[in-house]
Parts: sequence; structure tokens; C-alpha cells
Amino acid sequence: MKPIQAGLLGAGTVGSGTFNVLQRNQLEITRRAGRGIQITMVADLDTERARAAVGDAAQVVGDARAVIANPDIDIIIELIGGYGIARTLVLEAPIVIVSGGAVETPLLLQRSGMGGGGVGRYLRLHPTTAVIGFHDREIYGAAGIPLSAMCDEHITRDANGYGFWLECPPLHPSVGSVAIAGFGEAHASVMRQFPTLSSTIALVRDGSDMQASSGSVLTDAKGRARISYALTAPDAANLRASIEAAARLQLAAGARAVHTLHTSPIVVTREADLAQIRTRAVHANRVSLFSAHVNGTCRIGTDPATSGVSPTGERHGVPGVYVFDGSMLPTGIGVNPQETIMALSSILTDRLLARWS
Ligand SMILES: Cc1cc2nc3c(=O)[nH]c(=O)nc-3n(C[C@H](O)[C@H](O)[C@H](O)COP(=O)(O)OP(=O)(O)OC[C@H]3O[C@@H](n4cnc5c(N)ncnc54)[C@H](O)[C@@H]3O)c2cc1C
Repeated sequence: MKPIQAGLLGAGTVGSGTFNVLQRNQLEITRRAGRGIQITMVADLDTERARAAVGDAAQVVGDARAVIANPDIDIIIELIGGYGIARTLVLEAPIVIVSGGAVETPLLLQRSGMGGGGVGRYLRLHPTTAVIGFHDREIYGAAGIPLSAMCDEHITRDANGYGFWLECPPLHPSVGSVAIAGFGEAHASVMRQFPTLSSTIALVRDGSDMQASSGSVLTDAKGRARISYALTAPDAANLRASIEAAARLQLAAGARAVHTLHTSPIVVTREADLAQIRTRAVHANRVSLFSAHVNGTCRIGTDPATSGVSPTGERHGVPGVYVFDGSMLPTGIGVNPQETIMALSSILTDRLLARWS
């Protein structure tokens, strides 16, 4: 199949870097995607600099509009940036796809006068905590391939399929030292045992109360980001259960002691200790929570009051503006989200292209 023909606007640091990355990885991209991508035309005001960056591999012009007008170009990569010509070109584009992630996408829409309804609401985070197992043998959690094992036994704790899952993450010293509670000598003493520590992370499929918006990414009157999040009661119950399951798993794996990440850690050395986890508070500042899965702030739906985009990914009421990233996920999903986001973006892009052509 003929490679996708791309036009590059701006051959500065990021533009020339993008060109190099695509050139260098052409064979691998073709192997993985089944189709290559070639930058065949580049625009920069400084044509000499652009020529130096791309050599003879692409036609170089000084006018960005010449690239846009070229019917052989399938995709435009805009890397001029700023509020001048780049902004004008984006505003003129018949279709704009926003893919800034579930924090920046709703902020961009709100700052551009396209907020309201579900934009910035229904933030889902897969709130995640960990337990640390103290073993007598060396584990060295910083070595090896991450996510070597996961357990989804508890993913459907309620009738709607909400619960939690456990994963074996890598444990790097810097991340571990931040996550492990305590200060001074007590903290240093735990860190000295680092080679024998092992962690299990517990991720909650949040949003089990599907009508509730647990969190938001909104702008204030000055356009500054305001992010808030609070566990609903059912999600907090799932979090407690997830800590208990993770600690039980560590005990079964031979840990002599397991520490939770509560501000004042619960130390589990036998099954009977697990009961303490069931009653300990998990609200803000009571237990370390983190998230690598930020989703849902512009979710797909048919009701503009409770969703950001339609089932085609188009922003309600703003024809031509689409959102293809993690913010469109309608619910907190029960797996790590990356492949779902890529698959959904890919399907919606194909449908968009089919409608457009
Ligand atoms: C440490 C870590 C580990 C993870 N591990 C896994 C895993 O093992 N499996 C899995 O499935 N998922 C994993 N994830 C989650 C996964 O990375 C995300 O779900 C996914 O990348 C989200 O895709 P996205 O397109 O929504 O946002 P992103 O991938 O964040 O893409 C948004 C892009 O937009 C850019 N951007 C934002 N604002 C602007 C702006 N104004 N101008 C220009 N560019 C802008 C950002 O720089 C970013 O490159 C992990 C995440 C982290 C942080």
C-alpha cells in the first residue's frame, strides 16, 4: 500500500526531530501499522534551515498554505506552534482533532469557549495504591520487565462489573521512597532493605456510581486549571478491599511483613491483621493514592449535559472538532487503558475518514 504522504509545518527543534524520528523508524512503522508514512513536503519561513534539516528527502517551501493546498498530502503535521499563523491554520481547518490527554483536552476546550456540559467532568483515575512486602530473599523490584503479572479475580465485585485488579509493577528506588510512608531514620531503615522489598499495586475501576462525577478538570475565571477528585463510597469500599487482597497476596508469596501506604502504615504479618484494613479511612491524606490512567473528562455520550462528545467523537455543538484520546472514554474501564484508547481512536478516525471522503 502507498505510504501516507505527510506535510510538515515548521522545521524547528520539534519539527526536525519529528522528521528524523519518522525517517529513522520508517521500516518499523510500516511493519507494525501495515502502511508507511513519509513526510514529502515541509514548510518553514527559514527554508535554508528546513533544507538543512530534511535534506533532499522532502520538498521545502516557505509558505505553509502551499503544503495545505497540495492534494497529494494526506496529513498535515502542525509544529509551528504559538498564536500566530498556526492558530489561524487550525481555525481554518475543516476538521480538528484534539488529543491532549484527559487533563489538557478539557482545558483547551474550555479556554477556547467550547466547554460546558460534560467537558471537564467525570474524571476517572483508576485510583491506585500499593502494598510493600518485606521478604527474606532478594527480590530487587527495579529489575526486569514491568507488569509481568496481574490478577483480575476481583474486577467484578458488583453487578455492573466494578471492582479492582492487582498488578506486579517495577519498584524503582525513587518511586518507592516517595510512596513508602514515614520520615527520617524509620524511612531510611525501610529503604536500606530495598533489595528485598516487593510491591503489588491495586487499581480500582472507579465510577461504580455511574451517575456521579468523582472528579473534574475545570478552568477558573482566569483560565487556570482546577483539578479535583474524591472517591465515592462504593469506590472507597473497593479500594479497601483491594489493599486487603494485595496484602493477602504478598503474605501468600512469602512476605514476612506487609506495609500498606496509609499515612500511618498498617503492618500485616498474618491473616488476622488484615481486618484492620477494613475499618481504616481511605479519604484524602489518609492513604497514598496515585494514578497513571487519567480518563473520562470529555466522555462519549448522547446527552450534552453529561457527556463531552457524541459517539463519533465530535464535540457536542461544535461541528468539525473531535476528541480522540483518553478523555473520551465513557466509563472507567476495567483494564489499563492504552490499547483501548488507541483502538477507539483508530476506529473513530476510520469512520471520520469514510464520512469525509
Ligand atoms: C508511568 C505510566 C505508566 C503507564 N503504563 C501503562 C501501561 O502499562 N499500560 C497502559 O495501558 N497504560 C499505561 N499508562 C497510561 C497510558 O500512558 C495513557 O492511558 C495514555 O498514554 C493516554 O493517552 P492519551 O492520548 O489520552 O494522552 P497522552 O498519551 O498523555 O497524550 C497527550 C499528548 O498531548 C500532548 N499535549 C498536551 N497538551 C498539549 C498542548 N497544549 N500542545 C501540544 N501538545 C500537548 C502531551 O504532551 C501528550 O504527548 C501509563 C501511564 C503512565 C504515566
